[in-house]
Amino acid sequence: MRGNIIAYIEMCQNEGTSLQKGMNFRLRGKYSVILMSVRENSPYEDEITEDGTVLVYEGHDVPKTKGITDPKSIDQPETRKSGSLYENGKFHRAAQGFIEGNKGPDIVKVYEKIKPGIWSDNGYFHLVDSWQESDGRRNVFKFKLVAIESVEDEFLAVDMSNREIKRSRIIPTNVKLEVWKRDRGACVTCGATDELHFDHILPYSKGGTSLRSENIQLLCARHNLVKSAKIQ
Ligand SMILES: [Zn+2]
Repeated sequence: MRGNIIAYIEMCQNEGTSLQKGMNFRLRGKYSVILMSVRENSPYEDEITEDGTVLVYEGHDVPKTKGITDPKSIDQPETRKSGSLYENGKFHRAAQGFIEGNKGPDIVKVYEKIKPGIWSDNGYFHLVDSWQESDGRRNVFKFKLVAIESVEDEFLAVDMSNREIKRSRIIPTNVKLEVWKRDRGACVTCGATDELHFDHILPYSKGGTSLRSENIQLLCARHNLVKSAKIQ
Protein backbone atom coordinates (compact mmCIF):
# COMPACT_ATOMS: atom_id res chain seq x y z
CA MET A 1 0.00 0.00 0.00
CA ARG A 2 1.30 3.44 -0.96
CA GLY A 3 2.83 5.22 2.04
CA ASN A 4 3.73 2.07 3.98
CA ILE A 5 7.14 2.10 5.59
CA ILE A 6 8.90 -1.23 5.39
CA ALA A 7 12.20 -2.97 5.94
CA TYR A 8 14.19 -4.31 3.00
CA ILE A 9 13.29 -7.88 3.91
CA GLU A 10 9.53 -7.14 3.84
CA MET A 11 9.91 -5.50 0.46
CA CYS A 12 11.49 -8.68 -0.87
CA GLN A 13 8.74 -10.76 0.73
CA ASN A 14 6.08 -8.56 -0.90
CA GLU A 15 7.58 -9.16 -4.31
CA GLY A 16 8.44 -12.80 -3.73
CA THR A 17 12.06 -12.34 -4.72
CA SER A 18 15.29 -10.89 -3.46
CA LEU A 19 15.52 -7.41 -4.95
CA GLN A 20 19.21 -7.15 -5.79
CA LYS A 21 18.91 -4.73 -8.66
CA GLY A 22 17.31 -1.31 -8.85
CA MET A 23 15.41 -2.10 -12.06
CA ASN A 24 13.34 -5.26 -12.39
CA PHE A 25 11.37 -5.48 -15.63
CA ARG A 26 8.00 -7.27 -15.45
CA LEU A 27 8.81 -9.30 -12.37
CA ARG A 28 6.87 -12.55 -12.55
CA GLY A 29 5.22 -11.25 -15.70
CA LYS A 30 2.88 -8.72 -14.11
CA TYR A 31 4.43 -5.43 -13.26
CA SER A 32 7.94 -4.03 -13.00
CA VAL A 33 9.60 -3.00 -9.75
CA ILE A 34 12.09 -0.18 -9.37
CA LEU A 35 13.99 1.06 -6.36
CA MET A 36 14.61 4.78 -6.14
CA SER A 37 16.36 7.26 -3.93
CA VAL A 38 16.63 11.01 -4.00
CA ARG A 39 18.92 11.14 -0.97
CA GLU A 40 22.30 12.81 -1.15
CA ASN A 41 24.99 10.45 -2.42
CA SER A 42 22.47 8.19 -4.10
CA PRO A 43 23.99 6.75 -7.27
CA TYR A 44 21.32 8.01 -9.69
CA GLU A 45 19.48 11.26 -10.29
CA ASP A 46 15.88 10.29 -9.62
CA GLU A 47 13.47 13.16 -9.36
CA ILE A 48 9.93 13.62 -8.07
CA THR A 49 8.38 16.66 -9.71
CA GLU A 50 7.03 19.43 -7.56
CA ASP A 51 3.42 18.37 -7.36
CA GLY A 52 4.35 14.75 -6.65
CA THR A 53 2.49 13.12 -9.52
CA VAL A 54 5.43 12.36 -11.76
CA LEU A 55 8.68 10.53 -11.19
CA VAL A 56 11.58 10.87 -13.60
CA TYR A 57 13.77 7.84 -13.01
CA GLU A 58 17.33 7.56 -14.27
CA GLY A 59 18.46 4.42 -16.07
CA HIS A 60 21.34 2.36 -14.75
CA ASP A 61 25.02 2.25 -15.57
CA VAL A 62 26.91 -0.49 -17.34
CA PRO A 63 27.77 -3.14 -14.70
CA LYS A 64 31.21 -2.94 -13.17
CA THR A 65 33.21 -5.71 -14.78
CA LYS A 66 36.77 -6.30 -15.83
CA GLY A 67 38.16 -3.37 -17.75
CA ILE A 68 35.46 -0.94 -16.59
CA THR A 69 36.83 1.25 -13.84
CA ASP A 70 34.40 4.16 -14.07
CA PRO A 71 30.87 3.22 -15.20
CA LYS A 72 29.84 6.87 -14.76
CA SER A 73 32.03 7.82 -17.73
CA ILE A 74 30.25 5.44 -20.11
CA ASP A 75 26.89 5.93 -21.86
CA GLN A 76 24.20 3.94 -20.10
CA PRO A 77 23.77 0.89 -22.31
CA GLU A 78 20.60 -0.37 -23.97
CA THR A 79 21.84 -3.74 -25.26
CA ARG A 80 24.65 -6.16 -24.52
CA LYS A 81 27.18 -7.21 -27.16
CA SER A 82 25.11 -10.37 -27.58
CA GLY A 83 22.14 -8.20 -28.56
CA SER A 84 20.08 -9.00 -25.47
CA LEU A 85 18.54 -6.05 -23.68
CA TYR A 86 19.68 -4.53 -20.43
CA GLU A 87 16.88 -3.38 -18.10
CA ASN A 88 17.36 0.11 -19.61
CA GLY A 89 16.52 -1.35 -23.02
CA LYS A 90 13.50 -3.30 -21.78
CA PHE A 91 11.94 -0.29 -20.05
CA HIS A 92 12.80 1.92 -23.02
CA ARG A 93 11.08 -0.38 -25.53
CA ALA A 94 8.03 -0.70 -23.29
CA ALA A 95 7.73 3.10 -23.03
CA GLN A 96 8.23 3.61 -26.77
CA GLY A 97 5.69 0.88 -27.52
CA PHE A 98 3.16 2.80 -25.45
CA ILE A 99 3.96 6.11 -27.18
CA GLU A 100 3.56 4.49 -30.58
CA GLY A 101 0.14 3.26 -29.50
CA ASN A 102 0.99 -0.44 -29.74
CA LYS A 103 0.10 -1.23 -26.14
CA GLY A 104 -1.13 0.20 -22.86
CA PRO A 105 1.39 1.64 -20.43
CA ASP A 106 3.51 -0.76 -18.39
CA ILE A 107 2.75 -0.79 -14.68
CA VAL A 108 5.69 -0.10 -12.38
CA LYS A 109 5.79 -0.42 -8.61
CA VAL A 110 8.19 1.96 -6.91
CA TYR A 111 10.00 1.62 -3.60
CA GLU A 112 11.99 4.51 -2.22
CA LYS A 113 14.91 4.32 0.19
CA ILE A 114 14.40 7.01 2.80
CA LYS A 115 17.03 5.95 5.31
CA PRO A 116 19.41 2.99 5.60
CA GLY A 117 17.19 -0.09 6.03
CA ILE A 118 13.97 1.96 5.79
CA TRP A 119 11.96 1.94 2.61
CA SER A 120 8.68 3.50 1.60
CA ASP A 121 6.15 1.95 -0.75
CA ASN A 122 5.52 4.69 -3.32
CA GLY A 123 2.76 2.73 -5.02
CA TYR A 124 2.03 2.06 -8.67
CA PHE A 125 2.90 4.13 -11.73
CA HIS A 126 2.37 4.07 -15.47
CA LEU A 127 5.49 4.12 -17.61
CA VAL A 128 4.60 6.76 -20.21
CA ASP A 129 7.83 8.05 -21.76
CA SER A 130 11.58 7.48 -22.03
CA TRP A 131 14.50 9.24 -23.64
CA GLN A 132 18.26 9.64 -23.51
CA GLU A 133 19.98 12.85 -22.45
CA SER A 134 23.44 14.04 -21.51
CA ASP A 135 24.30 14.34 -17.82
CA GLY A 136 27.30 16.47 -18.76
CA ARG A 137 29.66 13.51 -19.17
CA ARG A 138 27.76 10.85 -21.07
CA ASN A 139 24.25 9.84 -22.11
CA VAL A 140 21.82 8.48 -19.57
CA PHE A 141 18.33 7.04 -19.89
CA LYS A 142 15.34 8.79 -18.32
CA PHE A 143 11.97 7.19 -17.68
CA LYS A 144 8.83 9.17 -16.99
CA LEU A 145 6.37 7.54 -14.59
CA VAL A 146 2.96 8.86 -13.56
CA ALA A 147 1.53 7.87 -10.16
CA ILE A 148 -1.82 6.09 -10.43
CA GLU A 149 -4.50 5.48 -7.85
CA SER A 150 -4.96 1.75 -8.19
CA VAL A 151 -4.17 -1.11 -10.51
CA GLU A 152 -6.71 -3.69 -9.42
CA ASP A 153 -8.93 -3.16 -12.43
CA GLU A 154 -6.03 -3.44 -14.81
CA PHE A 155 -4.91 -6.69 -13.27
CA LEU A 156 -8.44 -8.00 -13.80
CA ALA A 157 -8.04 -7.09 -17.47
CA VAL A 158 -11.30 -5.20 -17.76
CA ASP A 159 -11.96 -3.05 -20.80
CA MET A 160 -9.92 0.07 -20.24
CA SER A 161 -10.88 1.94 -23.39
CA ASN A 162 -13.44 4.30 -21.88
CA ARG A 163 -12.15 4.43 -18.35
CA GLU A 164 -10.46 7.40 -16.87
CA ILE A 165 -7.31 6.59 -14.96
CA LYS A 166 -7.20 8.43 -11.67
CA ARG A 167 -3.89 10.13 -11.20
CA SER A 168 -2.41 10.04 -7.78
CA ARG A 169 0.36 11.72 -5.90
CA ILE A 170 3.29 10.63 -3.80
CA ILE A 171 4.70 12.35 -0.76
CA PRO A 172 7.96 14.10 -1.63
CA THR A 173 11.07 12.76 0.05
CA ASN A 174 11.83 15.90 2.04
CA VAL A 175 8.33 15.79 3.53
CA LYS A 176 8.74 12.10 4.43
CA LEU A 177 12.06 12.82 6.15
CA GLU A 178 10.63 15.80 8.07
CA VAL A 179 7.67 13.73 9.28
CA TRP A 180 9.90 10.80 10.22
CA LYS A 181 12.09 13.09 12.31
CA ARG A 182 9.23 15.04 13.89
CA ASP A 183 7.27 11.88 14.84
CA ARG A 184 10.52 10.13 15.92
CA GLY A 185 9.92 7.12 13.71
CA ALA A 186 6.87 6.03 15.72
CA CYS A 187 3.05 5.99 15.53
CA VAL A 188 1.78 9.34 16.85
CA THR A 189 -1.06 7.58 18.67
CA CYS A 190 0.59 4.63 20.41
CA GLY A 191 4.34 4.93 19.81
CA ALA A 192 4.63 1.64 17.89
CA THR A 193 7.68 1.50 15.64
CA ASP A 194 6.62 -1.31 13.32
CA GLU A 195 4.14 -1.50 10.43
CA LEU A 196 4.22 2.27 10.03
CA HIS A 197 2.46 4.26 7.36
CA PHE A 198 2.70 7.87 6.14
CA ASP A 199 -0.88 8.99 6.78
CA HIS A 200 -2.59 12.03 5.28
CA ILE A 201 -4.31 13.78 8.20
CA LEU A 202 -6.86 15.22 5.76
CA PRO A 203 -7.06 12.49 3.08
CA TYR A 204 -5.73 13.20 -0.40
CA SER A 205 -9.15 12.23 -1.79
CA LYS A 206 -10.73 14.99 0.31
CA GLY A 207 -8.30 17.62 -0.91
CA GLY A 208 -5.56 17.14 1.70
CA THR A 209 -2.08 18.00 0.49
CA SER A 210 0.88 15.63 0.21
CA LEU A 211 3.28 18.49 -0.09
CA ARG A 212 3.47 19.75 3.48
CA SER A 213 4.53 17.87 6.58
CA GLU A 214 1.71 19.50 8.58
CA ASN A 215 -0.75 17.21 6.78
CA ILE A 216 1.29 14.00 7.12
CA GLN A 217 1.81 11.87 10.23
CA LEU A 218 3.15 8.44 11.12
CA LEU A 219 0.51 5.88 12.08
CA CYS A 220 0.88 2.15 12.77
CA ALA A 221 -1.23 -0.28 10.74
CA ARG A 222 -3.79 -0.62 13.55
CA HIS A 223 -4.36 3.10 14.05
CA ASN A 224 -4.38 3.66 10.31
CA LEU A 225 -7.27 1.17 10.09
CA VAL A 226 -9.12 2.77 13.01
CA LYS A 227 -8.80 6.14 11.31
CA SER A 228 -9.98 5.04 7.86
CA ALA A 229 -12.98 3.28 9.44
CA LYS A 230 -13.98 6.58 11.08
CA ILE A 231 -13.69 8.52 7.83
CA GLN A 232 -15.86 6.06 5.89
ZN1 LIG B 1 -0.51 3.14 16.70
